[in-house]
Parts: sequence; structure tokens; C-alpha cells
Amino acid sequence: MDYDFTIVGAGAVGLAIAAELSQHGSVLILEKEDGIGRGISSRSSEVAHAGIYYEPGSLRARLCVEGRRQLEEWGAQGRFSYRRIGKYIVAVTEDERAQLDALLARGRENGAGDLRLVSRDELCAAEPHLSAACGVFSPATGIFDSHGLMRFLLESAQQQGAQLATQSAVCGIRRLAAGYEVVVRQDGAEERLATRCLVNAAGLFADEVAALAGIDVDAAGLRLFWNRGEYFQVVSSSRVKASRLIYPVPGAGGHLGIHVTLDLAGQIRLGPSAEYLEPRPFRERREDYAQDERLLALFFEAARRYLPELEAEDLRPCATGIRPKLNGAGQPARDFYIREESARGLPGLVNCVGIESPGLTAAPAIGRHVARLLFNR
Ligand SMILES: Cc1cc2nc3c(=O)[nH]c(=O)nc-3n(C[C@H](O)[C@H](O)[C@H](O)COP(=O)(O)OP(=O)(O)OC[C@H]3O[C@@H](n4cnc5c(N)ncnc54)[C@H](O)[C@@H]3O)c2cc1C
Repeated sequence: MDYDFTIVGAGAVGLAIAAELSQHGSVLILEKEDGIGRGISSRSSEVAHAGIYYEPGSLRARLCVEGRRQLEEWGAQGRFSYRRIGKYIVAVTEDERAQLDALLARGRENGAGDLRLVSRDELCAAEPHLSAACGVFSPATGIFDSHGLMRFLLESAQQQGAQLATQSAVCGIRRLAAGYEVVVRQDGAEERLATRCLVNAAGLFADEVAALAGIDVDAAGLRLFWNRGEYFQVVSSSRVKASRLIYPVPGAGGHLGIHVTLDLAGQIRLGPSAEYLEPRPFRERREDYAQDERLLALFFEAARRYLPELEAEDLRPCATGIRPKLNGAGQPARDFYIREESARGLPGLVNCVGIESPGLTAAPAIGRHVARLLFNR
């Protein structure tokens, strides 16, 4: 065998898995782009989620809470910038209060930190530009440098001997008597390598990589639905300021709603929105990050509900990301799919599919979870 472990994808998830598995054997990370973190991981809100929203007991809930604690610890050790900034989830009107109560109960069940209800007066004192009936305060929610996290994970993996091959797209997977042959396209030529275990952490393309391994992704319920999220920044000359993250109660379909995020430099962004893209066959899918400036009216209306001093001219389009969702429009939210595939006759293959939010927060815990799946099989 050329490698004990081969990982497809050098986003936050693949790198966290590499940092973990390189403690146990030889690791190769294959990345189709010319560097790490060029996919979903570089287009997020960079929020370390506390773990409030997700179904109790789900992977999303458990790995989010565990991952956030790990990020905090690494942040405290100075591995990358991290701030425990805190967040308000707000009921704009009294009739949204019941949703807050439900979130509070769910967050407490998930172990999402010391959540507490806050009154209108307390909200007003903390965030003078905010208008809301009441809210939940989550002190454990943080913001962090996602690129710093990925550099740290790569360095940790490389110090333990892991190798990274960029501009190396996996285009074929064949089961061997023990392990897998992986076909890799590099500079127009095809190389083949043999690996004992294979981990699919290919983000938006994880369904395509699962299909290369012979899985019927439609029958297995693993086809990804791409969902665009756009951001508008609030220009620094705006009257509206915020010192913490501010989210409305979630809207239809579990979407968190147009919310206020802050980056480490204090820049306010609104978003991300949520819009399903037209499903396309694998070969016709393209990541299109062009911004739709017509969304300005939608952002303005959504944010003005709780930031009444906001003006439309305060907003500028600033970024776009795409979510890899396992549920299509109108379908119930799905959990992360992270499985060792012996049950499908593919031992030593781990698929990580549908790693949408809070995938960045959960990444360190996903790394450990994948290692457990491979060693406990
Ligand atoms: C708009 C938006 C906001 C978000 N905000 C947050 C947030 O605030 N907090 C949070 O916790 N999460 C957030 N998320 C979710 C989080 O960003 C993702 O869950 C996480 O980054 C997924 O990481 P990944 O490594 O799985 O995917 P990626 O970062 O996309 O990495 C996958 C890699 O695989 C490579 N690849 C694909 N196919 C192949 C192939 N055939 N061969 C070789 N390489 C291949 C890709 O090039 C890519 O680099 C957000 C997501 C979006 C879209």
C-alpha cells in the first residue's frame, strides 16, 4: 500500500481528519484546487456555533458542541484568532417568544453553554440599535479566523508526516482485495495510488466522490442539493453598530434568517440568505459565486425588522457561499452523513456528506469521529 489513509478534500473537515489520522499512520490529502480551503470553508460566517438549533443527539448537535470547545481551547493557546463574542437570538414581536422558549430548551439539552432569556431593556442597553421584544443570550458563541484554523490543522498533520497534493482531482475509485485504488488527475495526466483506507471529505462534491466508489447516491439518499447564501456588508459609515452577533428566530425550513455577524476586525455583515440552485448532473455543476445585487431589498427588509435605523444605502454586496444540503427545498433538515461503509461492502471507506453548517465549528470533532469509525470497525 502507498498510504494507510487517503483523504479527498483539503477543506476544514479533510484537514481536521488528516490532523487526527496522521497520529496513526501515513496520510495523503488530495485536493483538486491549488491550495487548501478554497471551497465551502473559505466562504462562511466564521462563527463558532454553540450548538443551539440542532436535533438533540444528532451528529450536528454533538459534534458542534465538542468542536466548539476544541476551537476555544486552541484559540486560548494562540493557535489562531478566536473571540468568545456571544450572540443574541431575538424575538422581534411577542408572538415569536414561544420559538425562543423552544430554542432555549433545545440548546440546554444540547449542552450549548449558559443560555439565558434577556428582556427588552437588557437588549436595549447592550445593543442600542436593536429593536426586539426579548431574546436569548448565548455567551459561548464565538468568531474565529477560519483560514488560521486550516493552516494550523495542515501544519499539525504535516508535522506528523502527512502529505498534501494540490491540483490533484480524484476521478476514479476501485475496490481492491484490501483497500482502494484511487485514480488522480494531475496536470492532465492520470496517476494511480493504493490506500488502505479512504475518506471522502469533498464538500460540495462529496456525493460525486461517493458515486465514484460505486454508491448509487440517489438510492442511498446522498445526492447533494446546492443552496446559495449571500452576504451584504454594512458600511462603516452606517449609524447601525453591533457588539455581538444578532440572529432573528429561525424562519421557514430551519433557515437561520438574515442575521448580523461580525468579523474579527469588527466589520458587520448581514446574511447569509438561502436559495436552492437548479439541480444539475455532476458534470454540469459549476460553483458560481457571482453576487445578485437584486437581493439588496430582501436583506434590507429582513434586517430592518430588528435594526430600524438601517438605511438601504448602508448595504454593499460582499460575499457568497454554497451549502451542500442533503435535504431539498421543502424537505425536513437532515443530519450530517458520516459513515464507515462496511455495510455497503466498502470497508475502510468513510463518507462525509452534507457537511453544511455547523461543519466548520464541528470540524475538529469530525476528525476524531472519523478516526473512531475507522478504528472501531
Ligand atoms: C454561506 C455559509 C456560511 C457558513 N457559516 C458557517 C459558520 O459560521 N460556522 C460553521 O461552523 N459553519 C458554517 N458553514 C458551514 C461550513 O463552512 C462547512 O460545513 C465546512 O466549511 C465544510 O468543510 P468541508 O471541508 O467539508 O468542505 P470544503 O471546504 O468545500 O472542502 C472540500 C474540499 O474538497 C475538494 N474536492 C472536491 N472534490 C474533489 C475531488 N474530486 N478531488 C480532490 N479534491 C476535491 C474541494 O476543492 C474542497 O477544497 C457555512 C457554510 C456556508 C455555505
